[in-house]
Amino acid sequence: MPSIDVQQLRLDFPLLQRKTYNRQIVYFDNAATTQKPSKVIDITSEYYQKYNSNIHRGVHYLSEKMTEAYENARSTVQKFINAQHIHEVIFTSGTTDSINLVAFSFGEKFVHEGDEVIVSHMEHHSNIVPWQMLCERKKAVLKVIPMNPAGVLDLDALESLISPKTKIVSVAHISNSLGTINPIDKIIAIAHKHNVPVMIDGAQGIQHSIVDVQKLDCDFYAFSGHKIYGPTGIGVLYGKEKWLNEMPPYRGGGDMIKNVSFEKTVYADLPFKFEAGTTNFIGAIGLSTALKYLNQIGMDKIIAYEEELKLYAHRKLIAIPNLTFYGSSDKKAGIFSFLINKIHHFDTGLMLDKMDIAVRTGTHCTEPVMSFFGIQGTVRVSLSFYNTEDEIDYLVESINKVKQLFK
Ligand code: PMP
Repeated sequence: MPSIDVQQLRLDFPLLQRKTYNRQIVYFDNAATTQKPSKVIDITSEYYQKYNSNIHRGVHYLSEKMTEAYENARSTVQKFINAQHIHEVIFTSGTTDSINLVAFSFGEKFVHEGDEVIVSHMEHHSNIVPWQMLCERKKAVLKVIPMNPAGVLDLDALESLISPKTKIVSVAHISNSLGTINPIDKIIAIAHKHNVPVMIDGAQGIQHSIVDVQKLDCDFYAFSGHKIYGPTGIGVLYGKEKWLNEMPPYRGGGDMIKNVSFEKTVYADLPFKFEAGTTNFIGAIGLSTALKYLNQIGMDKIIAYEEELKLYAHRKLIAIPNLTFYGSSDKKAGIFSFLINKIHHFDTGLMLDKMDIAVRTGTHCTEPVMSFFGIQGTVRVSLSFYNTEDEIDYLVESINKVKQLFK
């Protein structure tokens, strides 16, 4: 029995109702971005029509309304991730921006020549490149937690990688190309034993798990609005107050200051110190509407349904002969990366597209993962709670057609 009424919920998503070529779209590219419920689309339009006005700087009606809505959105995020303080929630433009903020600002203060930063082999480029840029700037060293062929990180290796020079560990909650759910609680415990803070890239974690940053005890957690049914161009950085207070601003400009003179500028308190310039304030309201929508359904029910659907998809997909899967951890989200025989991933993706199925092909911004397996890319099917068993059956049928066509 499904824990949610999927057919009813699908009606909340206008895009899922449309046809692409011949039939209603089957959208399996949720790890790249999720579709938006009408509530999110409507509130965005409503705010532009009725309340649009820049926040924090006005005394007039519209500005006050907009500021209040923006700060309420921050409070919704705080509750969603159970942050201790509201000022530990920084609005950014997305996961990439959040990681760059920490890599620059934490790095500026705490990382020096010869120090070490640890990431894992399965990171998205967003959780590699900003740290590499930092290491280059500071003459620090980037170390990598290895993974095994199942796509599971070697935590014993993490223990031995950590040294007195290690300043931060940054790892993905869930891998976007392998689907592995990393044991972030264990990673955090290991790092904290050595007094090393941990940043979690939650781009694929937040929408498929209940994230309690206090229980996790992570030092930073980053995610993107667009991957959790919210708008593009808005994201979140959660950071523990003790770190954020010590970190210098990442960008300078309006709103991040208490006062400015040519002699000296005094920076604003948290969270504004890290929100220079005009933020995507209507995006923040869209994001908080998405989070409230998920709360209304119940994250526990969403997770239970997604688990059922993942097991169904797994059973059906592994039964197809001649598919090679990448990422076979016991702890996996509904992300399936595979290749059919010797068929190029682009060809598979193009053929599935013509059958009205949207999948992603390529490296998924994880080139080191592709190099590990000695491949150029994969076909990736990533599920959401609005996907159905019927859609998976149709995918299986379509994969079999692709195989026939390339015979
Ligand atoms: N990390 C992971 C694990 C991701 O899947 C993605 C998006 N594919 C990102 C980071 C970057 O997210 P964004 O492009 O929204 O900043």
